[in-house]
Amino acid sequence: MISLEEALACIERVAVPLPPRRVPLLEACGRRLAAPVISDVDSPPWDRAMMDGFAICSADGEAASGGRLWLDVVVDLAAGDVTGLTLTSGTCARIMTGAPVPPGADAVVPIELAVEGTAAAHAGQRVCLDGAAFRAGQHVARQGAAFRRGDHVLIAGTHLGAAAIGLAAEAGATHLLAPARPRVAILSTGSELVSPETVPQFGQTRNSNGPMLAAAVTLEGAEPISLSIAADRPEAIRAAVAQGLAADVLLLSGGVSAGDLDLVPDILGRCGVEQVFHKVRLKPGKPVWFGILRRSGAASATLVFGLPGNPASSLVCYELFVRPTLAILAGKPAGQWHLPRSRALLTAPAKGAGDRPVFAPCRLETRDGTLAAEPLPWTGSSDLVGLAVANGLLALPAGCGRLEAGTPVEVLVREGEC
Ligand code: AMP
Ligand code: MG
Repeated sequence: MISLEEALACIERVAVPLPPRRVPLLEACGRRLAAPVISDVDSPPWDRAMMDGFAICSADGEAASGGRLWLDVVVDLAAGDVTGLTLTSGTCARIMTGAPVPPGADAVVPIELAVEGTAAAHAGQRVCLDGAAFRAGQHVARQGAAFRRGDHVLIAGTHLGAAAIGLAAEAGATHLLAPARPRVAILSTGSELVSPETVPQFGQTRNSNGPMLAAAVTLEGAEPISLSIAADRPEAIRAAVAQGLAADVLLLSGGVSAGDLDLVPDILGRCGVEQVFHKVRLKPGKPVWFGILRRSGAASATLVFGLPGNPASSLVCYELFVRPTLAILAGKPAGQWHLPRSRALLTAPAKGAGDRPVFAPCRLETRDGTLAAEPLPWTGSSDLVGLAVANGLLALPAGCGRLEAGTPVEVLVREGEC
């Protein structure tokens, strides 16, 4: 049996980022850009009115020495309208936000600054403006002020949040090169398992791991592929495993302990999956299995996890081992592979285990500037009730025994959960 640290080092040795793929804009959202976006336009693409008002020649204001002046409105321009007219001294255009400022004009006077009741003046009418409001360039976004055609508007490595996706769209990118979203096949093994819509008969258990792991994978930005349930029969498991090995990652749950029908490690071996480790000093989650199916040539390997069947063990193993694997495959930086660790003060006693580190659900809360960890009720490795409301995991070291309230402990922070 190896330690958690040794197990993680094994994973980090074999997991490598998936090759990037060209994907439609929206699919790239939340990932890191793998190649720069080069704009095919200037932004703004032309001098753009930034207020509703009148496009004017600012020199007219100087000529009026700051007094009022009357201008002929020669054209109305809404966003999307263009004109072949060039404004000359003494004329102006009624212009709405987003329209191109016509040639000859170099500023916009807001509609609110029209005087003598002339704010509604349209083409063919006259508007009276305060010459003091004429300043060259005002309320005009100049062509290319934000970026120029040919500029690298997004560089490789940029996190593709909403604004970055918007900027890529503005720059004319319909597709982006981004790390591939890992495809994760999920197979629940166990002859006792029934789907969640079934009312379990005596001896049957609802498959909670399948939906739970699919949810975890989805939250991590990876793509779950549900392979449903395989009974504890070698042929059934083998057929489903063969299907699952086409994915980047295969998650199995159940069948990895030492029972008569714990067939998973043997079947994986027969399918060519090389065992990297089996059993980690950990509670819950000790039976966890990890292996790799290597392929010749450029084809990527499939990483395979045999997670314990008990749901809480499965989830803890997901958090500790699968989450970092998916982060590595997705090309995330090392600082984002693992759940963040922090120190917190216990609000109530907690109990460790003699021989293994324990990961138990807790509720984290900042009280008077200090992080406090409230251990949640937890009856053991089949119990998801505490985990469902836990935004943290107590990480109690091996041999720590009972810890009293007020003891500082290490915690894993499950950001975004609960
Ligand atoms: P195993 O790891 O196959 O020995 O299973 C350990 C325990 O977890 C047993 O009580 C199983 O019924 C239960 N179990 C296994 N798989 C699942 C699952 N997909 N959903 C809920 N419980 C499960
Ligand atoms: Mg089983």
